[in-house]
Amino acid sequence: MINKSLVMISNAEPYAHKYYNNKIVQEKQPGGLTTGLDPLMQDLDNSVWVAWARGEADFEVTDKNNSIKVPDENGYKLKRISLDKTEENGFYYGFSNQTLWPICHNFITKANFSPINWQIYKNVNKKYAKAALAEINGDEMIWVQDYQLSLVPKYIREENPEAKIAHFWHIPWPPFEIFNTIPWRREILAGLLAADLIGFHTKNQAKNFIETARKNGAEVNYNNKSDFIGVIDYNNHKTQVIALPLGIDFNGLNKKAKSKEVKGKAEDLKKYYSANRLLVAVDRLDYTKGITQRLQAIDKLLEKYPEYKEEITLIQRIAPSRVHIPEYEEMENEIDRTIGDINGRYQTADWQPIVYYKGSVPQDELLPYFLAADAALITPLIDGLNLVAKEYIAVKENGQLILSEFAGAANQLEGAIFTNPYDIDATAEAIAKAISSKAKVKQARYEQMLKIVKKQDINWWRDKFLKTWDDIYDK
Ligand code: UDP
Repeated sequence: MINKSLVMISNAEPYAHKYYNNKIVQEKQPGGLTTGLDPLMQDLDNSVWVAWARGEADFEVTDKNNSIKVPDENGYKLKRISLDKTEENGFYYGFSNQTLWPICHNFITKANFSPINWQIYKNVNKKYAKAALAEINGDEMIWVQDYQLSLVPKYIREENPEAKIAHFWHIPWPPFEIFNTIPWRREILAGLLAADLIGFHTKNQAKNFIETARKNGAEVNYNNKSDFIGVIDYNNHKTQVIALPLGIDFNGLNKKAKSKEVKGKAEDLKKYYSANRLLVAVDRLDYTKGITQRLQAIDKLLEKYPEYKEEITLIQRIAPSRVHIPEYEEMENEIDRTIGDINGRYQTADWQPIVYYKGSVPQDELLPYFLAADAALITPLIDGLNLVAKEYIAVKENGQLILSEFAGAANQLEGAIFTNPYDIDATAEAIAKAISSKAKVKQARYEQMLKIVKKQDINWWRDKFLKTWDDIYDK
């Protein structure tokens, strides 16, 4: 137990309550952020997690304060916030995912600058801040997560000037010319810069943030000596900025991968798909993930190297997300078409180049796929970090990673085979290289990645972040 009280605030909740056969069941929610932070919350004394309730039975089990202990009565307090349809559309589907998400991933032309959505985003951020403020009675540390909640630090600071506030921004931060296209950019910066500490996954993202602050009138000081990237002085308040890539529960995953059950399921998959070599890809449905380009690379590989016909199969898993945004629906159709076209041209009576699963599954169910695959194709057009890359390394001994140079994880995983995901030929060549390299070369690549994934795990990330944060107040 760590002796610290924390108020965690995130968009998504770690546990939801749902009806199953007329009974209410508690379900752990998938997603890297909640999976990573849940063990930390369980380790802390007296802590609260404030989040949006999306389970249909969520408020059937909460107390008068909209709270419940999770994962059980000895756990931490989860305080639930409810959003109505207008709030959900304006805050979540609207400003968060049709303005901030595309802008931060450099897709300006996909951004929608709706003043109505912005107003709703502000109101919902106020709602989160209010719910969190009600939980602060002493010197709790308030840790705000991600782009949906950029204004929460400011709304809390306004009511509680002495509050200890940190923020972690889990998606990329774009160059200032792109961020500055948002009409309300200064308000967003002011919201974030009310925090004492802000974390990013990479130095480049942190530097882009600092430059954006500088271009918008803040005084900045770079400090490149360590992970500390700099200090920003804005409205007479100082904010430290660090680069600290999120880690995974390496030991937990590695242990599960060695279990009889996972090994057995992996063997079954290998038998079921008659290809000698399996490739795996797991993505949330999103235009940033480069799914179509990856499929085209498989097409190119088979065209250039016909010897891989009936030899390799890509298992592509896609978890649907943000399905109410028309763009995401169109993308699903495009992926269906591309897979149909490629399979139609190459498949034989008992072999397909691409096998496609749609649907989100608990993380444990992904492990046999990782274990069965000789290589993972992680080729986003841009990604804040990409946890799947690290999870694959934790699970598959001597696994080969074909990794986009534009994924945040590329900064850590030197042993990967890098590709520019827009360059279809280059990705096809990277796949060929991953498959055809000598065993010794593969092992050396893998060990280089393993060392980092194991050392810089979720505990390393959490401890480093909390220590940096504590140090601010010790000075
Ligand atoms: N994931 C899962 N079930 C699925 C698909 C994905 O549990 O069906 C998990 C995956 O193991 C990873 C997270 O969701 O921990 C996705 O994180 P990542 O950083 O790769 O991408 P994001 O979705 O956050 O953009």
